[in-house]
Amino acid sequence: MDTAYDAIVVGARCAGSPTAMLLARKGYRVLVVDRATFPSDTVSSHVVHPVGVAALARWGLLDRLTATGCPPIHTYAFDFGPFTISGSPGTPDAPNAYCARRTVLDKLLVDAAAEAGAEIREGFTVEEILRDDGRVVGIKGRSKGGERVTERARLVVGADGRYSVVAEAVRPEQYHEKPPLLAAYYTYWSGLPIDGRFETYIRPRRGFAAAPTHDGLTLTVGGWPHAEFETHKKDVEGSFLKMFDLVPAFAERVRGAKRVAPFAGAAVTNFFRKPYGPGWALVGDAGYNKDPITAQGINDAFRDAERCVMALDETFTGARASDEAMGAYQRARDQHVLRMYEFTCQLATLEPPPPDMLQLFGAVHGNQKAMDGFVQMNAGTISPAEFLSPENVASIMTAARMRSA
Ligand SMILES: Cc1cc2nc3c(=O)[nH]c(=O)nc-3n(C[C@H](O)[C@H](O)[C@H](O)COP(=O)(O)OP(=O)(O)OC[C@H]3O[C@@H](n4cnc5c(N)ncnc54)[C@H](O)[C@@H]3O)c2cc1C
Repeated sequence: MDTAYDAIVVGARCAGSPTAMLLARKGYRVLVVDRATFPSDTVSSHVVHPVGVAALARWGLLDRLTATGCPPIHTYAFDFGPFTISGSPGTPDAPNAYCARRTVLDKLLVDAAAEAGAEIREGFTVEEILRDDGRVVGIKGRSKGGERVTERARLVVGADGRYSVVAEAVRPEQYHEKPPLLAAYYTYWSGLPIDGRFETYIRPRRGFAAAPTHDGLTLTVGGWPHAEFETHKKDVEGSFLKMFDLVPAFAERVRGAKRVAPFAGAAVTNFFRKPYGPGWALVGDAGYNKDPITAQGINDAFRDAERCVMALDETFTGARASDEAMGAYQRARDQHVLRMYEFTCQLATLEPPPPDMLQLFGAVHGNQKAMDGFVQMNAGTISPAEFLSPENVASIMTAARMRSA
């Protein structure tokens, strides 16, 4: 096919720019368009777990992030009230998480894609997905200056978030759907030092977390069940402060701090989409979206970018048939994230854990290896299937019985 580009990537944030960068590094001709301009913010808190940090390191971008002064996070602490489970979220190779402002992280990713040779068009809104005989062949959109532009490529990648215009056009199969479960809000504070820790507080029908970010600020993010969305939407600040009061020591710390930004928030639907078809592919939230409570979105976007590019490369070079390569991409994604998706959706209900889980958490507390495992499960470093396997649970329970004996 005679086209100007091998791939057009719609969306230039956590999924789109790495996809474009990795394709361009392989020598493909790539155009990236985004209606946003960079640097710019988006509605998202931004804890990047060690798995995502490891991807940045593989791509040679971690030093650039640390050079922005983003403080490393070496410890996650989950406070359940009667006890706190505290441990290391990463591995010896990638021990730290970072809570990198999206204004900084996304710009860094866009620049890396441009450096790799991708053409970036900011302020470009895609309005239509072009098709020829059922196959996606390009995009039509409006550039910053307002003129209408048509571009063609062998493939269009939708990295355009949960309301993806690419997905809307190709209508992929959607599965494992769940309605919004949580109303999540976040803001930033000065004078709320938190020193390398990601603190999470779990209380009945409430949950919130705090993490250090750029410029000496602390992010707080939290919320309530989606069923309470209407009740609290007119006074998010009041409801948030009441939530902090459930943890008096934290509320006291907040009283000495200053809020420096308005609350932002969202409630999202949960779904998987088939991420490929004739002439198109989906990465990041466009293909798989879940509640932010476990902060997996950036990890997932980075992993999708790597796996999708591998499959596209196999397709473009003819090493594998497209359906085979892209089918493997879908299966690997689903297999990797399904248990975490179920875990995330369960947590997002903010229902108290079932008694056997509470018993397990109690047994984990005080056992450092088990606490690290628990924390790593929540970070996505290890799978819930691994941490909650009958063998691991039995070994944690036995160790707890021996400790109490
Ligand atoms: C409240 C909240 C808190 C969150 N907290 C975390 C967290 O702490 N950690 C974490 O890992 N994840 C978190 N997430 C999830 C995370 O934000 C997403 O998973 C992540 O942003 C996905 O990246 P993406 O590139 O797929 O999509 P997006 O970041 O949504 O980027 C999509 C891009 O596509 C562009 N676009 C869309 N339509 C068009 C169009 N028609 N034309 C041109 N451009 C278009 C948009 O302008 C945008 O720049 C949170 C989400 C929410 C809602």
